[in-house]
Order: sequence, then C-alpha cells, then structure tokens
Amino acid sequence: MIAEIISVGSELTTGMVTDTNSAWLSRKLAELGIMVARHTTVSDDRESLREAMQASSNRSDVVIINGGLGPTRDDLTRYALAEVLGQPLESHPQAQKQIEAFFVKLGRPPSAADHVQALIPKTAAILENTIGTAPGIEARVGKCRLFCLPGVPREMKRMFWELAARMAPQGQPPRPPVVIRSLHTFGSYEADLGRRIEHFMTPGRNPAVGTTASDGIISIRIVAQDTSQTPAEVPAGRDERKLREVLGDLVFGAGDDTLASVVACLLTDRRLTISTAESCTGGLLAKNLTDIPGSSVYMIRGYVTYSNESKIELLGVPVELLQAHGAVSAEVARAMAVGCRRRSGTDLAVSTTGIAGPGGGTVEKPVGLVYIALADRNGVEVRQCRFGAHLPRAVIRGRACKTALNMVRLGRM
Ligand code: ATP
Ligand code: MG
Repeated sequence: MIAEIISVGSELTTGMVTDTNSAWLSRKLAELGIMVARHTTVSDDRESLREAMQASSNRSDVVIINGGLGPTRDDLTRYALAEVLGQPLESHPQAQKQIEAFFVKLGRPPSAADHVQALIPKTAAILENTIGTAPGIEARVGKCRLFCLPGVPREMKRMFWELAARMAPQGQPPRPPVVIRSLHTFGSYEADLGRRIEHFMTPGRNPAVGTTASDGIISIRIVAQDTSQTPAEVPAGRDERKLREVLGDLVFGAGDDTLASVVACLLTDRRLTISTAESCTGGLLAKNLTDIPGSSVYMIRGYVTYSNESKIELLGVPVELLQAHGAVSAEVARAMAVGCRRRSGTDLAVSTTGIAGPGGGTVEKPVGLVYIALADRNGVEVRQCRFGAHLPRAVIRGRACKTALNMVRLGRM
C-alpha cells in the first residue's frame, strides 16, 4: 500500500507558509499502517496540479491532496481533478445543501463564488465538511483512491479523521502496523555515529534505521513494519535495546525527551539543586532549565555575569585571575562555577564563558571557544569547547547550553 500527499498553494511554494499538513498527514497515515512514499508541493497552477495528480495516481494506491478547494480564483483543485478524470464538473445537490446550511449557521447568504464549492466531477463523491464551507472530494483514478481535503489545517484534520478508517488497507482493522521510535544522542558527529551503527542502516532492512542531526543533537529513527510472523513492536524494541547498548552514554533520551527535560528528571529524582553563572550564554541556560514545568524544585538561582566587574562582584572571581587569563579561560570558568555554587548554596553550579561572535575572536581565542564548568561537592569539571568560528552566534550559544546540560546529565553528582 503506497500513499502520496500533494499540498497545494503558492503560499507554500513561495515559502510564506510551511507545509505542516503533509508532515501531520504522514504521521497519521503511518499510524494506520500506510507508508507515504512522496510529498509533492505545487503552486496554485492548474497545469502543474493536473500533472502532479496524474503522476501520483498512476503510481500509488492512495493520494491525499490538501488545499485549493476554496471559492477563489486561485483554488484550482476541483478543475485539475476534472481534467484528470476527463469529466465535466457538476453541481452536487448534497454539497449545495451543505454549503447553504453552513451559511445559515453563519447568518449570511452564500455568494455566487461559494456555490463553486459544490462543483465536483461526475463520478466523484463529496466528503462532508462540518466546520468549514468547502466539502472534500473523493474520486477513483484507475486503481488509485484520491481524496481532496481543504488546506485549512483544522478542517483538513477533522476531515482526515472521518476518512481514516476508509483509507486503511481494506479488510484490516486500523491498528498501527508501523512503529516509529526515536532515540536522541549528544556528543558525537553524525558521520562517526553513522559508522558505529552502520549495520543497522542496511537498505531494505526492517526496521529501517536512519539519523537526523539538528544543532548537535543526532536523533536515530527506527521505523519498524509488521511482518506476517511478528508485530512491528518486536523488532522496534529489539533495535532500540541494541542501539542503546552500542551507543551507551551518548543516548540521552527517546521520543519527546530533550536534554533539559532529561536533566530536570535527573535533578528531581536525586533531589539535587542547581544554579547557573552565565557569561556568553546570557541567561539561555537558565531559560532552558526553567522551560520545564516544576523547575522550581531544582533551579535556585541564575547569574548573568557578562562584565568582568559582575564576575568579581556577584561570583567572587579573583581580579588577578581575570587579569592573568582573561574572562574566556578555564580558570575563570572554574572560579565562576565555584563562586556560584558557594553563593547560591546549591548542590551543583554550572558556568559558561566564551566568544559567541561574530566579532571578538583572536588567534588564541577564536569565535566559538567556550569554557563550561560544572561544580559539585566533589570538585569542578571544566570543558573547553571549540564550536567552530563559522557558526552563527545563536548556534554557538545553543551548543554551549546543550553541552552544559549534557555535563550535568553525565556528572557524577
Ligand atoms: P481550502 O481548500 O480550504 O480552500 P485553500 O488552499 O484554499 O484551502 P488557503 O486559503 O490557501 O486555503 O489557506 C488557508 C489557511 O490554511 C492558510 O492560513 C494557510 O496558511 C493554511 N494552509 C494551507 N495549506 C497548508 C499546509 N499545507 N500546511 C500548513 N498550513 C496550510
Ligand atoms: Mg490555497
């Protein structure tokens, strides 16, 4: 069973709106056991739309089109469909009634343009839209079933749920034969990680395993399918266990976990408190730590000590240390964390000091150089990070925070 999704709208192809409909539809179809092979995005252009519909229905079992069903001149889905089917559009009495009923609810009469939304090809059927004007259209092109849904996300989703049972392979109950799991790692490079797990990534293997990198976090997807002998949960669970074994500490979480949420659980479980002393991250680390509901249990205090004076005054960093090594140094990071911990009275304290750029770098201390220190009752761990001078300021600051959170996660405590 192969499905495709076509999203329609020049607002999508011009990049003004991000096509979230396709992503949502793909996830929901996967839950029904229907794998999506392609996403196509076309502008409000009748010929491109006709071509896309024709090509998709020739090669797939189900095609979901979303958008372009409205009453305006740039809504061309029904016209393109009529051409693909080689049939004229006809006014559908039931659709007509639905549109009129909808406008009664709105308390105003429909305009001539609104009646366009009742036009559908002769052999097509309508899909009721209970929360908007444009009914959907269902048609068959050869062996392919084609569903045209509205582009408005809320209406599209509502209509999808009404159809879901019918889209599932015939005669099978709509249970999830595809299981998608994800593991998240921090502290490795994609190429390196890929090498360590390459035996999971053989083409055609079930589960299919793949990686996605996003700002230092590399996520591993496990997409398992049912076989005649085994439900998908079995190989998905087996792969997850084996991947955790191979990758060890690099794996920080799964599913919706973030570094901050994992650290939050850890601190809460062990009843540990934390404080932060931030220079180059300017409070971002404290923000990350307090993004999590319930963070008042562990987060006690955050210092933003951007100037040398504030490092001396608020954290007690010795002036000689700043003069001898400069603010961006292992020594100052260490003194910041120790001072922060002492003054806050917390179990842990984390500090950051570095050069986030784009200016301010030198040969010895280039942009991207960040020192991060974690102080606990056993002592202080200081990390020197070189995030790459080419990276944008926001990325360097983000990486520094993630590295700091990861140090907390891996700390001995
Ligand atoms: P309809 O078929 O309901 O008339 P349409 O394509 O005519 O849909 P538009 O007026 O183009 O609808 O878009 C309606 C709203 O839906 C807009 O806010 C648009 O940003 C949003 N939208 C349309 N398509 C998508 C999509 N693929 N992903 C996310 N949002 C979308
Ligand atoms: Mg549109």
